[in-house]
Amino acid sequence: MHLLNKFVVATLPAVPRPVVRFFAGRYIAGETIAHAIRTVRQLNAEGVCATLDVLGEDITTREEAIAARNQSNEVLHTIAREKLDSNLSIKLTSLGLKIDPAFCADNVREILKVASGYGTFVRFYMEDSTCTTDTIEIFRTLNAEYPKTGIVVQAYLFRTEHDVAAMVKTGTNFRLCKGIYKEPKEIAFQKREEVQQNFVRLLRMMLSAGSYVGIATHDSVLVDAATAMIREMGLRKDQYEFQMLLGVRPELRKKLVREGHKVRLYVPFGEHWYGYSLRRFKENPEVAGYIFKALFKRNV
Ligand SMILES: Cc1cc2nc3c(=O)[nH]c(=O)nc-3n(C[C@H](O)[C@H](O)[C@H](O)COP(=O)(O)OP(=O)(O)OC[C@H]3O[C@@H](n4cnc5c(N)ncnc54)[C@H](O)[C@@H]3O)c2cc1C
Repeated sequence: MHLLNKFVVATLPAVPRPVVRFFAGRYIAGETIAHAIRTVRQLNAEGVCATLDVLGEDITTREEAIAARNQSNEVLHTIAREKLDSNLSIKLTSLGLKIDPAFCADNVREILKVASGYGTFVRFYMEDSTCTTDTIEIFRTLNAEYPKTGIVVQAYLFRTEHDVAAMVKTGTNFRLCKGIYKEPKEIAFQKREEVQQNFVRLLRMMLSAGSYVGIATHDSVLVDAATAMIREMGLRKDQYEFQMLLGVRPELRKKLVREGHKVRLYVPFGEHWYGYSLRRFKENPEVAGYIFKALFKRNV
């Protein structure tokens, strides 16, 4: 990372919240479910579907986990009531993974009960490597009970090839992404090209095994490799989808829609927008640069 960007990233926590909120506007639908509905409607009108995520992580109490569970259930009721073309993404740490995996699994099960009543698909988000084994274990148990579920895997982790080899045997529905957390060199590829190569290798493993894949990237190299693979394998439009984040590379998403691919946008919303927004800024030096300037213009 460029030295200035390193500095910007290090100083981000000192940036006043209103400044962060201003720049976060492009990445989050808003703070309320009404904001989320409005964003998903706009996307649906463009021919793009969504996956809604109530922002929240790093909780420390069971009450917070239960509140998060109830919020996800509220989203499921809303998707059905408003007839939105959207599914739900859930983060297991916000549902108590770090408190007690069994308690977390119970919370997830409650969500899946509601989702299955509506026939709505639920995606298990993948967090940092301290969560990988527990997330996969809970997913495998609950996927056997509730098949309309899928998991995320991260191309930067060495272990992912092994995990995918095991999960394709049960027809798992995957979201494949590079991975957003900082992981040590002992367990994860560090070089961009290595992560890209592993992404392509994993995608081929999944698609050749007949798994449905949400190809989650804004990297043109990977989008081109994926579209070439899809053509080469003669896949139908209902065997994969592209997935992107709200606010990132809208021109690429429009191009994919024009070419006839299914595209789904990750639409996060909720009061806990701060941590999510900081991760997005760290990925995007340009926005981080704006914040840097704003640091010296406190009236923004
Ligand atoms: C739908 C979806 C779900 C995801 N779920 C998870 C998950 O469960 N777990 C996890 O660890 N990670 C998740 N991620 C994040 C992912 O792992 C990457 O960190 C992120 O997508 C950036 O990687 P990239 O493949 O887009 O490539 P990059 O090389 O990072 O980006 C390619 C290009 O996209 C643009 N771009 C990328 N990020 C931004 C940004 N923030 N602002 C503006 N432009 C940008 C830039 O032009 C950049 O050159 C998800 C990503 C998506 C799209």
